[in-house]
This record gives sequence, C-alpha cells and structure tokens, in this order.
Amino acid sequence: MENCIFCKIINGQIPSFKVYEDDFTFAFMDISPINPGHLLVVPKKHFAETKDYDEVTGGYVFNTAVKIEKALRKSNIVTCEGTNFFVANGTAAGQEVFHSHLHIIPRYKGDNFKVRIEKSEKPSMDELKNIASIVNSNI
Ligand code: 5GP
Ligand code: ZN
Repeated sequence: MENCIFCKIINGQIPSFKVYEDDFTFAFMDISPINPGHLLVVPKKHFAETKDYDEVTGGYVFNTAVKIEKALRKSNIVTCEGTNFFVANGTAAGQEVFHSHLHIIPRYKGDNFKVRIEKSEKPSMDELKNIASIVNSNI
C-alpha cells in the first residue's frame, strides 16, 4: 500500500528496530513508547482495521504477540510487572496509523498509561439478548 508508514517499515523503505518476522507478521519497537519495551505487531499484508482481516490474519497476529510477550517477560532489560495488548480500530478508538497493529505495552503499577473506564448505565436483559443475537447472526 503506497504511503503507508507501516508497509514501508515492513519492506525496509523506512528503518525500524525489528524484533521478529515470519511469513505473515512483523514486529518492531514503537518509536514513541508508552513504557520502555513498547512494541507493535503488524500483519505483513496491509489491512486498515481488524474488520478487514482475512480468516487467518487475526490468529497470526495474536500468536506472534503471545510469543513476543513471553520473550519480553523473560528479558532482564524490560522488567515490567504486567502488559496490555491493545488494538485501536478507527479514529474514535484512538487509531492514528491505518495499517492495523497490536500494541504490546509493558506495564508497571502506578505508571502513566491510563485507560479511563466509565461504564454506561446497565442495559436491560432484553437489550443484551438482542445485541448478542444480532451480532451472532452476522458472524
Ligand atoms: P495507534 O494510535 O494508531 O494505535 O498507534 C500508532 C503507533 O505507531 C504509535 O504508538 C506511534 O508511536 C507508532 N509509530 C508511528 N509512526 C511510527 C514510525 O515511523 N515508526 C515506529 N517504529 N513507530 C511509529
Ligand atoms: Zn500498510
């Protein structure tokens, strides 16, 4: 995909610090980390969001993330207490680069990464049931 920074990183037109690559995925250090060790896993094929993935891409991206997170947790350079896997789909969710990517974010108690969760009012059981069945019928 022309003019996509992450496609350019994958094909070497833009430099990056690569952590891992296989036939389907590529992982590299985030240039502006939330915490040291923050990295990104991307599918090699250009997909803007996860809704655009083919049948196999989600599995490959997640498996690579699991593999790398294990390696990160074994390292003695990033001694984090936990991690978050984070994927933004769309501007409203905070996506800035429109080549889908999964963040692996090392976490420390009391660090600066804040996800503010304010729940909406509890829906009725009918509403939950209705949404569940409509989503299910679209699978
Ligand atoms: P988003 O907000 O789209 O989920 O995250 C995009 C991420 O890509 C950000 O964390 C940002 O720091 C990272 N990023 C943007 N441009 C570059 C780049 O040119 N190289 C690298 N390594 N990371 C980038
Ligand atoms: Zn791309």
